Amino acid sequence: MHVLLSNKTNVRAYCRHKTLAVILVCVLCAVSSLPVSGQQQSAELVLVGGNIYTVDRARPHAQAIAVDDGRIVAIGSNQTISAYVGSDTQVIDLKGQFAMPGFIEGHAHFVGLGESMMMLNLHQAKTWDEIVLQVEKATRTTPPGEWIIGRGWHQSKWDHVPSPNVNGYPTNLEMNSAAPDHPVLLTHASGHMSFANEYAMKLAGVDANTENPKGGEIVKDENGKPIGIFRETAQALIQKVKTRADNQRPQIQKQAYSQRAVELASIECLKKGITSFQDAGSSLATVRNLRKLADEGKLGVRLWVMIRDDNERLRGQLANYKMIGYADQFLTCRALKRSIDGALGAHGAWLLAPYQDLPTSSGLNTASIDSVTETAKLGIKNDFQVCVHAIGDRANREVLNIYEKMFKEFPSQFPRRWRIEHAQHLHPDDIPRFGKLGVIASMQGIHCTSDAIFVPQRLGMRRSEEGAYVWKSLVDSGAIVTNGTDAPVEDVDPIASFYASVTRRLTDKFTFFPGQVLTREQAIRSYTIDNAYAAFEENTKGSLVPGKLADIVVLNNDLIQCDAEEIKNTRVIMTIIDGRIAYQAEKSPNHPE
Ligand SMILES: [Zn+2]
Repeated sequence: MHVLLSNKTNVRAYCRHKTLAVILVCVLCAVSSLPVSGQQQSAELVLVGGNIYTVDRARPHAQAIAVDDGRIVAIGSNQTISAYVGSDTQVIDLKGQFAMPGFIEGHAHFVGLGESMMMLNLHQAKTWDEIVLQVEKATRTTPPGEWIIGRGWHQSKWDHVPSPNVNGYPTNLEMNSAAPDHPVLLTHASGHMSFANEYAMKLAGVDANTENPKGGEIVKDENGKPIGIFRETAQALIQKVKTRADNQRPQIQKQAYSQRAVELASIECLKKGITSFQDAGSSLATVRNLRKLADEGKLGVRLWVMIRDDNERLRGQLANYKMIGYADQFLTCRALKRSIDGALGAHGAWLLAPYQDLPTSSGLNTASIDSVTETAKLGIKNDFQVCVHAIGDRANREVLNIYEKMFKEFPSQFPRRWRIEHAQHLHPDDIPRFGKLGVIASMQGIHCTSDAIFVPQRLGMRRSEEGAYVWKSLVDSGAIVTNGTDAPVEDVDPIASFYASVTRRLTDKFTFFPGQVLTREQAIRSYTIDNAYAAFEENTKGSLVPGKLADIVVLNNDLIQCDAEEIKNTRVIMTIIDGRIAYQAEKSPNHPE
């Protein structure tokens, strides 16, 4: 296995003229699909003998592809492309393997993914006791007073309910004796809830008298004592103290940490065939840091970033942060992110009617309609896309209403491509509104099969069937549906999300409303060209056609043809980004590097 990170920003600067010439050649020759005749400039890299799925409807299949200076110069038969092989060309025989455009992760958290790889991973725990044990173990190698952090616990995925518990959530009783000398902060898999031990709560000054903040809840036991569970905006009470401690670290340490997070996230993406990543919400400070790393050629994959920050801070500053195709197409920042509700697993999704398993609650509205409308206006004024997280049916309806109102108030002849992130649970009346308004449903295939075990408990069967993860109804009604994983909420693996999208199968005995599966072609489009469209990038990526970026993934299975169960065994053989082999599963004489 080999991962190569630095991009060729500096080299590229010298090659710009060559790029233009190459693009011109391909416009004149290759686009017309005619065999190239006469003198042909040789390419840097040629892939031959492949089973290439191009995602280009005009020519869906090809055998070979020629790449030069980070771009595709030609695609076609082995014979046509042989004209691009010169004495310096690296030729790779794909030996019939399946190749397609590099996956575009449509909604996940880039820095969060990297950071999650530097903390306790709680995803696999089958009980709360296992998690207590993981923390207890960490206390032995962490100096007293230092934070122990982890992520990925999910009470619905444990073998049994913890004891003691409040509404199924663990209390911090056991943890307080396991980690009496360390502040502990463990984030829920959804990111919408956190657990803190007594030590951390003391540092934050949280006790029985602390009131719930707006849009959040400090879960308390029957005696009014906080149990250590903080839902939605209440997480900030603990997070604030942790951030203060982080900020006190020396600058050099902070920088090394964030650089390491970006590096780890890049490596993880390339290993999984991802060449572009849509980051679902970074602060202005994080965007500044990403720009610096982009300047230094240290972004391993291409990023498209939504800014998530205060309206007040954004006002007047946004223009300075707008970047389109910056650092040779490695960084784009042209979208804003808000969240109007929480997640279903944590009973935070904002519903039109109460939860079936918590009839006192219809979820949480985490940002006011006015404040989200304000962000939408900032988007219009600065020509930024607007992306709002909405999971519950009420949340989705409110966001569609805001968008509709804005589109009417500020009409534009061009589609704005505003997005609803997750669009997870919809009232049937709202499904056709996405297509009609041109609002993109930014969904995650893997969330469906991951959450399916508790969706009917939360919503009941009727609401689950009519409106949960209704990809097909959305596509049929003319909406663009994109795909991703919301990593680190889920593993960033596109194959698992693709499998969920085309099967909705949890086990061989349980499929979650199979009427809503996508076809293989639709699911591949959702992970490539449709994700590109949702970022205004369909002219540079998402399909393999001359002139587009040479971002390609080679797999050991044909995702269009293979048996459905075989999809799960698919491995990434090679990831090419910017015309370079950035990841290779194993070395062989045909794959020199
Ligand atoms: Zn997210």
